[in-house]
Amino acid sequence: MDEKVRVSKIVHGSLEDGKGIRTVVFFAGCPLSCKWCHNPECIEKKPVIMYLKNKCILCGKCISVCKDAISSDASGIKIDREKCTSCGECSKVCLGEALSLSQSEMTTDEIFSEIIADISYYKYSGGGVTFSGGECLRQPDALKDILLSCKKEGINTCIETCLDISWETVSEIAEYTDSFFVDIKLMDRNKHKEYTNVGNARIIENITKLFKKHSDITFRIPLIPGVNDDMANLEQTVKFVSLLEGNGERRIEVLRYNNLAESKYESIGKKFTSFGEVQSDSDMEKLKIYLNNICDNVKVVGGNI
Ligand code: SF4
Ligand code: SF4
Repeated sequence: MDEKVRVSKIVHGSLEDGKGIRTVVFFAGCPLSCKWCHNPECIEKKPVIMYLKNKCILCGKCISVCKDAISSDASGIKIDREKCTSCGECSKVCLGEALSLSQSEMTTDEIFSEIIADISYYKYSGGGVTFSGGECLRQPDALKDILLSCKKEGINTCIETCLDISWETVSEIAEYTDSFFVDIKLMDRNKHKEYTNVGNARIIENITKLFKKHSDITFRIPLIPGVNDDMANLEQTVKFVSLLEGNGERRIEVLRYNNLAESKYESIGKKFTSFGEVQSDSDMEKLKIYLNNICDNVKVVGGNI
């Protein structure tokens, strides 16, 4: 099988997305649209043109290929996003590499070639490949195809997911996956809907089922100031994980707020909202100590998004 996949990017040599050195494949398209998302270009499953002003050398070549959608004024290049058809022609002539499409279509074979090229790093470090996004489970046939190829080559696989997907898909993909990172953004269903655009009923149900089925799951809470970093939400999350039925270790990773996505929002013509300051080292330490004392059977560690 050689399925087509909408991919936002492939990152090589990551040390933050699972054990060892990892290749991370970012699938495009997500059922959620979190107000703090730091990969806003991955939310839609269609490409948009990204413009990085600090790389633009004002050569004007993009205007010569697209007078309809691109113009310039004293402050630089302007893209009329109503008129842009995401054809990507401007990015091909851009001398400064200031223009690029946010995603592209790749075959599963092409993706697997990029994964297997890093196999010596996986062997040396105990690493592997992580499928992220967006939401990789939204393109399950292609994902299964690549997971099977990885299994044949003995490559460790990890999935980062929000789990807002049918249980049939989650259950099938879990058969071929070594480990999961599962986000638990908010326990309150109304707040979940307010900040991510969807409720959390299916997510909570899938977490409950997946923990019974799979023994290597790390739950992740991205700490968003003023949204989900209150003790009521965090305590409720720890207690929920503590009561899950299953044999796996109960691990929660609390992730420091990432407020560095402003330039990404600018590059796709969207408004960025900051939720506040990044937690300090000492705040994170205090939080971990507090949360680790709530339930004996849950281990809370820290990390970065
Ligand atoms: S992607 Fe195509 S339509 Fe959009 S600005 Fe570039 S050349 Fe014009
Ligand atoms: S082609 Fe690229 S570098 Fe030249 S003006 Fe357009 S965006 Fe800037």
